[in-house]
Amino acid sequence: MTTELPVPIPRVEIHSTLRSAREREGRYRLVGSRCSSCQALWFPRRFVCPRCHSRELEPYQCSHRGTVVTFWPDTMGFPAIGYEEIEDRVVALVRLDDGVHVITEIADTPAGRLQNGDRVRMVLRRQKREDTGNWCYGYKFEKEAG
Ligand SMILES: [Zn+2]
Repeated sequence: MTTELPVPIPRVEIHSTLRSAREREGRYRLVGSRCSSCQALWFPRRFVCPRCHSRELEPYQCSHRGTVVTFWPDTMGFPAIGYEEIEDRVVALVRLDDGVHVITEIADTPAGRLQNGDRVRMVLRRQKREDTGNWCYGYKFEKEAG
Protein backbone atom coordinates (compact mmCIF):
# COMPACT_ATOMS: atom_id res chain seq x y z
CA MET A 1 0.00 0.00 0.00
CA THR A 2 1.35 3.40 -0.97
CA THR A 3 0.48 6.54 0.86
CA GLU A 4 0.55 9.60 -1.32
CA LEU A 5 1.21 12.92 0.20
CA PRO A 6 -1.35 15.59 -0.61
CA VAL A 7 -0.23 18.05 -3.28
CA PRO A 8 0.47 21.38 -1.61
CA ILE A 9 -1.79 24.18 -2.81
CA PRO A 10 0.12 27.45 -3.10
CA ARG A 11 -1.65 30.22 -1.23
CA VAL A 12 0.02 33.56 -1.53
CA GLU A 13 -2.87 35.68 -0.35
CA ILE A 14 -6.26 35.00 1.13
CA HIS A 15 -8.90 37.32 -0.26
CA SER A 16 -11.48 38.62 2.12
CA THR A 17 -14.48 40.44 0.72
CA LEU A 18 -14.87 42.29 4.00
CA ARG A 19 -11.30 43.52 3.90
CA SER A 20 -11.72 44.54 0.25
CA ALA A 21 -14.74 46.61 1.25
CA ARG A 22 -12.87 48.29 4.09
CA GLU A 23 -9.98 49.20 1.79
CA ARG A 24 -12.13 50.56 -1.05
CA GLU A 25 -11.22 54.24 -0.49
CA GLY A 26 -7.60 53.35 -1.04
CA ARG A 27 -8.34 51.10 -3.97
CA TYR A 28 -10.69 53.45 -5.85
CA ARG A 29 -9.11 56.82 -5.11
CA LEU A 30 -5.59 56.14 -3.73
CA VAL A 31 -6.47 57.44 -0.30
CA GLY A 32 -3.63 56.81 2.13
CA SER A 33 -2.64 58.45 5.40
CA ARG A 34 -0.79 61.57 6.48
CA CYS A 35 0.78 61.67 9.94
CA SER A 36 -0.35 64.77 11.83
CA SER A 37 2.83 64.71 13.96
CA CYS A 38 5.65 64.25 11.42
CA GLN A 39 3.71 64.89 8.15
CA ALA A 40 4.91 61.59 6.62
CA LEU A 41 2.69 60.21 3.83
CA TRP A 42 1.74 56.53 3.68
CA PHE A 43 0.01 54.27 1.21
CA PRO A 44 -1.80 51.98 1.89
CA ARG A 45 -3.34 53.75 4.87
CA ARG A 46 -1.87 53.22 8.33
CA PHE A 47 -3.27 53.47 11.81
CA VAL A 48 0.12 53.97 13.50
CA CYS A 49 2.87 56.05 11.87
CA PRO A 50 5.84 53.73 11.14
CA ARG A 51 8.21 56.68 11.46
CA CYS A 52 7.19 58.40 14.73
CA HIS A 53 4.65 55.88 16.14
CA SER A 54 1.95 58.56 16.40
CA ARG A 55 -1.65 57.39 16.16
CA GLU A 56 -2.77 60.77 14.83
CA LEU A 57 -3.18 59.99 11.14
CA GLU A 58 -5.63 61.59 8.75
CA PRO A 59 -6.82 60.45 5.30
CA TYR A 60 -4.61 61.70 2.52
CA GLN A 61 -5.49 61.77 -1.17
CA CYS A 62 -2.37 60.63 -3.03
CA SER A 63 -1.41 62.04 -6.40
CA HIS A 64 -2.85 60.16 -9.38
CA ARG A 65 0.20 60.77 -11.54
CA GLY A 66 3.70 59.41 -11.20
CA THR A 67 6.82 57.91 -12.73
CA VAL A 68 7.77 54.25 -13.21
CA VAL A 69 10.78 53.40 -11.02
CA THR A 70 11.01 49.75 -12.08
CA PHE A 71 8.70 47.04 -13.39
CA TRP A 72 8.59 43.29 -13.83
CA PRO A 73 6.29 40.66 -15.32
CA ASP A 74 4.23 38.94 -12.65
CA THR A 75 5.23 35.33 -13.27
CA MET A 76 5.73 33.05 -10.32
CA GLY A 77 5.09 29.96 -12.45
CA PHE A 78 1.46 29.92 -11.42
CA PRO A 79 -1.19 32.63 -11.25
CA ALA A 80 -1.98 34.16 -7.89
CA ILE A 81 -5.38 33.27 -6.46
CA GLY A 82 -8.01 35.59 -7.94
CA TYR A 83 -5.82 36.59 -10.88
CA GLU A 84 -6.18 33.43 -12.99
CA GLU A 85 -8.23 35.15 -15.70
CA ILE A 86 -5.89 38.09 -16.19
CA GLU A 87 -3.05 37.41 -18.63
CA ASP A 88 0.31 39.08 -19.00
CA ARG A 89 0.27 41.10 -15.83
CA VAL A 90 2.97 43.72 -15.48
CA VAL A 91 3.69 44.99 -11.98
CA ALA A 92 5.55 48.22 -11.34
CA LEU A 93 6.90 50.35 -8.56
CA VAL A 94 5.58 53.85 -9.23
CA ARG A 95 6.79 57.01 -7.52
CA LEU A 96 3.82 59.38 -7.31
CA ASP A 97 4.33 63.11 -7.79
CA ASP A 98 3.91 63.67 -4.03
CA GLY A 99 6.73 61.21 -3.27
CA VAL A 100 4.57 58.24 -2.22
CA HIS A 101 5.64 54.88 -3.70
CA VAL A 102 2.97 52.44 -4.87
CA ILE A 103 3.33 48.89 -6.14
CA THR A 104 0.73 48.61 -8.86
CA GLU A 105 -0.30 46.78 -11.95
CA ILE A 106 0.27 48.48 -15.31
CA ALA A 107 -2.86 48.44 -17.48
CA ASP A 108 -3.03 48.33 -21.26
CA THR A 109 0.74 48.55 -21.75
CA PRO A 110 2.76 45.43 -22.60
CA ALA A 111 6.14 45.18 -20.86
CA GLY A 112 7.89 45.75 -24.20
CA ARG A 113 6.43 49.27 -24.48
CA LEU A 114 7.31 50.29 -20.94
CA GLN A 115 10.53 51.90 -19.71
CA ASN A 116 11.77 53.07 -16.35
CA GLY A 117 11.02 56.79 -16.07
CA ASP A 118 7.79 56.59 -18.08
CA ARG A 119 5.01 58.92 -16.91
CA VAL A 120 1.88 57.06 -15.77
CA ARG A 121 -1.54 58.01 -14.45
CA MET A 122 -4.05 56.17 -12.31
CA VAL A 123 -6.98 54.40 -13.92
CA LEU A 124 -9.76 52.26 -12.43
CA ARG A 125 -9.75 48.65 -13.63
CA ARG A 126 -10.73 45.14 -12.64
CA GLN A 127 -8.10 43.97 -10.18
CA LYS A 128 -8.99 40.43 -9.20
CA ARG A 129 -11.76 37.90 -8.74
CA GLU A 130 -13.10 37.73 -5.20
CA ASP A 131 -13.87 34.43 -3.54
CA THR A 132 -17.58 35.32 -3.97
CA GLY A 133 -17.08 35.39 -7.75
CA ASN A 134 -17.43 39.17 -8.01
CA TRP A 135 -14.78 41.30 -9.63
CA CYS A 136 -12.88 43.56 -7.32
CA TYR A 137 -12.14 46.95 -8.91
CA GLY A 138 -9.28 49.20 -8.02
CA TYR A 139 -6.39 51.32 -9.17
CA LYS A 140 -3.91 50.45 -11.86
CA PHE A 141 -1.65 52.78 -13.79
CA GLU A 142 -1.38 53.32 -17.51
CA LYS A 143 1.25 55.03 -19.59
CA GLU A 144 0.44 58.66 -20.35
CA ALA A 145 0.16 59.54 -24.02
CA GLY A 146 2.99 61.57 -25.49
ZN1 LIG B 1 4.65 60.32 12.05
